[in-house]
Amino acid sequence: MTSLDETHDQNRRSWVASANGHPDFPIQNLPFGIFQPHGGAPRSGVAIGDEILDLKEAFSLGLFSGLAREAAEAASGATLNPLMALGSAARVALRARLSALLDEAGAERTKVEGYGTVLLHKAVDCILHLPARIGDYTDFYAGINHATNVGRLFRPDNPLLPNYKYVPIGYHGRASSVRASGGAVVRPNGQRKPATEEFPSYGPSRNFDYELELGIWIGPGNALGTTVPIAAADQHIVGYCLLNDWSARDIQGWEYQPLGPFLAKNFHTTVSPWLVTPEALAPFRAAQAPRPDGDPRPLDYLWDDGDQATGALDIALEVLLLTAGRRMAGEEPIRIGGSNTRELYWTPAQMVAHHASGGCNLGPGDLFGSGTISGTTTDSFGSLLEITEGGRKPLALPSGETRRFLEDGDEVVFRAQCRREGFATIGFGECRGRVVPAV
Ligand code: MN
Repeated sequence: MTSLDETHDQNRRSWVASANGHPDFPIQNLPFGIFQPHGGAPRSGVAIGDEILDLKEAFSLGLFSGLAREAAEAASGATLNPLMALGSAARVALRARLSALLDEAGAERTKVEGYGTVLLHKAVDCILHLPARIGDYTDFYAGINHATNVGRLFRPDNPLLPNYKYVPIGYHGRASSVRASGGAVVRPNGQRKPATEEFPSYGPSRNFDYELELGIWIGPGNALGTTVPIAAADQHIVGYCLLNDWSARDIQGWEYQPLGPFLAKNFHTTVSPWLVTPEALAPFRAAQAPRPDGDPRPLDYLWDDGDQATGALDIALEVLLLTAGRRMAGEEPIRIGGSNTRELYWTPAQMVAHHASGGCNLGPGDLFGSGTISGTTTDSFGSLLEITEGGRKPLALPSGETRRFLEDGDEVVFRAQCRREGFATIGFGECRGRVVPAV
């Protein structure tokens, strides 16, 4: 269990002025990522306000010792996989040292500040890459409101299948098509077979959707044929991000039986590029919501008292849509949904324990999606499938435009913030993608 320490002090300020009061990256966050400065090669960095601290350069300058040095050295390559493999002790030491180096009142402030642009890059001038080489990507289905809403479209009287409250449902996704925030997302072609047509046809998806999810980055992992006990599962989570599981609903509806999602999901997945650590999120842990009366208690391998007490996360999520029309008019995205990670029916640790429970090996750089996180009201839904009830009730935007599903040119932006009285607010940065026409 991650404890609170001086790095969480809400009064700590950074000499990087933009960090103080920054909605995502104040000195209390310090997420890791892989960035590329103009004219340079990809390398590891730490987001601080509107700047990125060059971790590789900081390591070369000899700013770390002991365990923190071990972590910084592991993070000095072109991916964070070696840092992820280390586990929490080294990562915690690195966080403490980074916080001290960036502290307004830090003993070495003058020296560190003196390195200037050798150490700090303006984030707007940098390209952000995936933080890791992703070994495997698994998408869960732990958003119970989403599962219920979608189930209701097909089975109004019995929306959840009988396994849902026993099994953290998931499917194996595709790692090769996961991309960092910011790029174009090509509308997939595929087989479409609406009920109104006798035969399937091949062409651009007509029901193109987003899914609002929490991404979970896996750390040390387990050897093939071994399991991860629920009480130790936390130690294998090295960070979190926002994840858009882009979904082609028409392709999905035709292809998914009997083996589940395939081409409807594997053409592109977008993640926010910063790995927000369990340490940064320590103040925002929460008790797992008690199961409603009548729900079964999880089987023993999925039950841990500590996980139930503090294994959930309190992260406010939101979905914004920027249509091509509004972008050309220079206007801001419109908020079309938002929920909270407390809506998840299974904790991240339960997902890890379940994934490994049959002996499947997890490894550093593996990625989980949580499943779409919806609340219980229309304005809290995490997909257009739910908001428009399968496309039947178009969403009216304040601009006068309507949407059944996404149009070419639409840009979907996820944001998230963690707020708690007595602590600095932290965020995740954006998870953004723009739909471009099918090829
Ligand atoms: Mn999904």
